[in-house]
Amino acid sequence: MNQVPLIYEISSPGRCGVTMPQSDVPETEVPAELRRTKLGLPEVSQIDVVRHYLRLSQLNYSIDTGFYPLGSCTMKFNPKINEDAARLPGYAFTHPLQDPLTVQGNLAIMFHLQEWLKEIGGFAGVTLQPAAGAHGEFTGILIMRKYHLERGDTKRKVILIPDSAHGTNPASSAMSGFIVKQLPSDDRGNIDLNALRAACDDTVVGLMLTNPNTLGLFEEHLEEVVNLVHGCGGLMYGDGANLNALVGIARPGDLGFDVMHFNLHKTFSTPHGGGGPGSGPVGVSEELVDFLPGPIVAVTFPDGEDETPLYLFAEPKKSIGRVKSFNGNFGMLVRTYTYLRVHGPDGLQANSMYAVLNANYLRVKLNDKYPVPYDRICMHEFVCQGKFAGSDVRALDVSKRLMDYNFHPPTNYFPLIVPEALMIEPTETESKETLDQFIDAMRKIADEAVKEPELLHSAPHNTPIKRLDEVKAAKELVLCCMPRDFEEKALA
Ligand SMILES: *Cc1c(COP(=O)(O)O)cnc(C)c1O
Repeated sequence: MNQVPLIYEISSPGRCGVTMPQSDVPETEVPAELRRTKLGLPEVSQIDVVRHYLRLSQLNYSIDTGFYPLGSCTMKFNPKINEDAARLPGYAFTHPLQDPLTVQGNLAIMFHLQEWLKEIGGFAGVTLQPAAGAHGEFTGILIMRKYHLERGDTKRKVILIPDSAHGTNPASSAMSGFIVKQLPSDDRGNIDLNALRAACDDTVVGLMLTNPNTLGLFEEHLEEVVNLVHGCGGLMYGDGANLNALVGIARPGDLGFDVMHFNLHKTFSTPHGGGGPGSGPVGVSEELVDFLPGPIVAVTFPDGEDETPLYLFAEPKKSIGRVKSFNGNFGMLVRTYTYLRVHGPDGLQANSMYAVLNANYLRVKLNDKYPVPYDRICMHEFVCQGKFAGSDVRALDVSKRLMDYNFHPPTNYFPLIVPEALMIEPTETESKETLDQFIDAMRKIADEAVKEPELLHSAPHNTPIKRLDEVKAAKELVLCCMPRDFEEKALA
């Protein structure tokens, strides 16, 4: 494939892509002190710009171009009706400081979304503010902290986290000022109950648990785990990233979780974006509702129960305070609202069941070629290993080779407790044909790993950029496009 040149490399002095309207104000020089340097913008025609950006976009891999089994990330298809709804002028062009009386429809969306997330999660209250799952974790831990402090219980400093957890769990705990104690997993992929029993005392703030966990497995001793944690006065935090396995089947609140974040961009089909906005609402049990970040949306019926409702912002009594400006990423809330309305309770339940079915189908079709260390019925994802007898091929090589077959790689080297981990999450939105093509590619790659390992070591072969130096890419991040001689030109 051809490399796309930098836009500066197709720049030609004097070329212009737009015709400016006639100025209706007198021309004047911009004072030199207001202009640090010349702008150094590329000079290109409209057709240059259109072709340039279209070609750049074609270099991207996305859920709209192909299968994206990135475990734990729930890369399901983002239905386009969500986008239509979010772009309606009444949602897209309102200002968060507008008088609530002029944006009743927007507040209604937020109110109903709070109610449905309460219903889906089995919680008594919900905040829509946090901007991502990790932000929801931070919010949830601050709520747990305030709960203990309000009871005058100042001794608690330890958050328990299983060794299969996502890195954001210990990060959120540490950012909230707590000490993390890691718990080992047992040989069926559950929390080691003896280790948990030994760790439960009056210094425990709570346990952060992902269920199903990052091995894609349902915690088999959940009831006992909840009893141990509650028994020592701790709270149960649920990492809701894997909720796509449970919606409409089980409610985390009923299972004993006191706090949980929802990842709207995972479970409820809002786009993950190129680092763009996510949304991580948090649900809490009855005894924690007063600590939620404010404001939340409440409803009243000033003219009687059967009349028009009035939606207003309300402040929880002992709120931990705001965690985000305004009302969170409102556009994501509209998309989720739309998704929930389109599917309804039965559709949501069916989605979870198909997500689980698809993951088990892949697991059973691949486990003879890719060892599955905890090989039992999985939920919406499973973890296998990219290692082969008599070959030095690694999980990373398998992933790079998958790109040659036009598939996005699975999650690599996570969870940390599985060597050469490949974490595969197909989601419910993929057809059997797509799953079968993926199985074919994975099985071919396993054979290549033994017969032609060099083919994998040198992959990918037909992407615009070959294997990256990942350390350099992370340490010397280049975030904006500049002409190579930008400094000289700007100062000239
Ligand atoms: C994605 C994920 C998170 C973090 O969520 P973000 O929305 O990416 O911040 C936390 N835990 C698990 C298990 C996840 O998969």
